[in-house]
Amino acid sequence: MRNKEKRRYIIQLSGIVQGVGFRPYIYQKAKEYRICGWVNNTGARVVMDVEANRGALKSFLLDVIKNPPILAKIEKVSIRMHNEMGYNSFEIRHSDKELSKIKLISPDISVCYKCMEEVFNPDSRRYRYAFTNCTECGPRYTIIKSLPYDRKNTSMNPFSLCEHCRDEYSNPKSRRFHTQPNCCSHCGPTLFLMNQRGKEISCWDVIHKTAELIGEGKIVAIKGMGGFHLCCDAQNEEAISQIRQRKNRPHKPLAIMVKDIEVVYKYCELTQLEQEVLMNPRRPIVLLKKKSKCILPGNIAPYQNRLGIMLPYLPIHHMLFEGNTECLVMTSANRSGSALQYKNATALANLGKVADYFLLHNRDIHNPIDDSVIKIIENKEMFSRRARGYIPYAKNMGIQDEILALGAEQKSTFSISQNGYIYFSSYLGDLKDKDSYDLYKRILKNFTVLIHSTPKIVAHDSHPKYLSTRYAKTQEGHRIAIQHHHAHMVSCMAEHALSEKVIGVIFDGTGLGTDGTIWGGEFLVGDRRDFIRWGYLKPVLLQGGDSTIHEPWKTAVSYLYSIRHDPKSFLKNISHLDVDIIQQALAFKYNCHLSSSMGRLFDCVSALIGIREHITYDAQAAIELENIADPNINTGYYYLINQRENIFELDYERIILGILEDLENAVLPSIISARFHDTISNATVEIICKIRDSVQLNQVVLSGGVFENSYLLQSVYKKLKAKDFDVFFNQQIPINDSGISFGQIVIADEIMKR
Ligand code: ZN
Ligand code: ZN
Ligand code: FE
Repeated sequence: MRNKEKRRYIIQLSGIVQGVGFRPYIYQKAKEYRICGWVNNTGARVVMDVEANRGALKSFLLDVIKNPPILAKIEKVSIRMHNEMGYNSFEIRHSDKELSKIKLISPDISVCYKCMEEVFNPDSRRYRYAFTNCTECGPRYTIIKSLPYDRKNTSMNPFSLCEHCRDEYSNPKSRRFHTQPNCCSHCGPTLFLMNQRGKEISCWDVIHKTAELIGEGKIVAIKGMGGFHLCCDAQNEEAISQIRQRKNRPHKPLAIMVKDIEVVYKYCELTQLEQEVLMNPRRPIVLLKKKSKCILPGNIAPYQNRLGIMLPYLPIHHMLFEGNTECLVMTSANRSGSALQYKNATALANLGKVADYFLLHNRDIHNPIDDSVIKIIENKEMFSRRARGYIPYAKNMGIQDEILALGAEQKSTFSISQNGYIYFSSYLGDLKDKDSYDLYKRILKNFTVLIHSTPKIVAHDSHPKYLSTRYAKTQEGHRIAIQHHHAHMVSCMAEHALSEKVIGVIFDGTGLGTDGTIWGGEFLVGDRRDFIRWGYLKPVLLQGGDSTIHEPWKTAVSYLYSIRHDPKSFLKNISHLDVDIIQQALAFKYNCHLSSSMGRLFDCVSALIGIREHITYDAQAAIELENIADPNINTGYYYLINQRENIFELDYERIILGILEDLENAVLPSIISARFHDTISNATVEIICKIRDSVQLNQVVLSGGVFENSYLLQSVYKKLKAKDFDVFFNQQIPINDSGISFGQIVIADEIMKR
């Protein structure tokens, strides 16, 4: 029979095949189907040379492609037939020294249930062992220093395998066959508990003791996979207010970790997709709608209607929930506005006044990383922060040059291209903070070493004062300045594989425009290379520099000044003298700048209606304005669209007058907020329709940090859909400034092609 004929194929699989147990998996399948030959892993690809009868080879291959290891993602398969070699066994060949062209490294994955069964089994040799992992779970990116992904190239290198662990590592039948971070309590990392002064607490089980301390209302800094968390009992209002006081973080929502999915249902409403994302082994924080009668303390997320929730992802986390605790505050451990802590010594030094105790371990975190944050909008997964579990992120965009794109400033990331792929960094915080800037440089260096990148082209924001721009100036190579809002637009286009011209609506906080003014309420028409500004929010003269972002009341004074109105009767908590000072400065144009920022208009309205005059975290005024909006109201204010030649200008004057009139009539803030949101979405859609009539384009991309406002995003999205537009918004690449580097690199590539 033909099927019995011998065949030999050399098969290459590419995609995410590093550190996901591919070699042992192939080995097992080869045994199952009686295949001879070998498998090798050259970094980017799995290469196998397989020989058997035709039928067996076919079944083997179908099985491998259809059911790869959980964490693997096969992107490409190539098969070549060769002359028989007469292999009579199957073997795994060791990692090749040769550097591959594309390197895809697996992200960190939460502990699997099989490992947790061992951790909770008193008869297992891994009973209560906090670093238990296997081929399908555990740390990857956070511990890797160089490729190939072998133990010696990770921060597991100092720990040599004990006899038992070595047996597992070299036994193809074991779940831990070739698990690089494999370890046990005899040979692996250990935990220790310290007080604020760095004195070790002696106890029979540090996790049990930690849980006890948390139960007593203490705050514990816990070193996890990507960095430290500050942890306290999420049902203890007093402990939470302690964290807030000590971190000087009065309002910013705190993420919580809950015991299991049943507990989530107690506090939040969730859809099928939200549940799936929450339970994904990558374990992101998911922003979920609070139940109207949520019984958790209000100070976890004051003035919010969503809670940031994640499920346990480390053995430590699971063990902390052994007692009665079902809900813990788990917020990134940093000083207010500063970078994530990830080293024992610096955490003790910097968090000594914040945490009562420290649960530490002796495995280094080589690549620190925050938790990811996802929300579900229009039944689509949308990243607010792409980080742990989803980094490294590599997307094949066919980019030929090696380009480094340095992102913006406040929510920094970078992107690097190599062999067609774009590698996108994790969220790295506000570069104006020195520690965050150092972290940014460190991760950038780590990453270029990891993939052996030597970019010849450096793309950066056109704002000369951004620290990322200043950093660009220190780099060798050809520099390309990219306009901020164009980068937002292209970040969304690239994600959705749009390359023809589109209409881009970019609503943002700040970004430098091509005319030297601040932009942020932009209607652009363009492609990946160029754009034309077709419309904008009417610019207003704003008094004050960067400080206005923290003081929405000043923005309100500027807006009202521009329409010859006195805001004193509306800004009830601001002294008349302070208002006078701003007004005088406006009269003399002292320290003023023109801005079409949509973010500032939201700040102005938030301050006017008395929601937030000063803020304590980024975009707080706009977020709280969104959260009070009454979804049953859909009667907007009047607005004007001024047209000059082919430019559409959204005039805010009548909108603000409408709001002032409502305020005088004591209309509820929830109604004013809803009417304002509705007005902006109506005006936005009207301008887009006018642009469509002129340019005959039907694809619209929505981007920019203001669209983190789900109420606004959904409203614009639905209205555009109703008018038969094809509408896209950022999902995998964040819509806020952390998506900028991705857009920059794509634009730089287009410019270089020219
Ligand atoms: Zn496992
Ligand atoms: Zn061991
Ligand atoms: Fe921006």
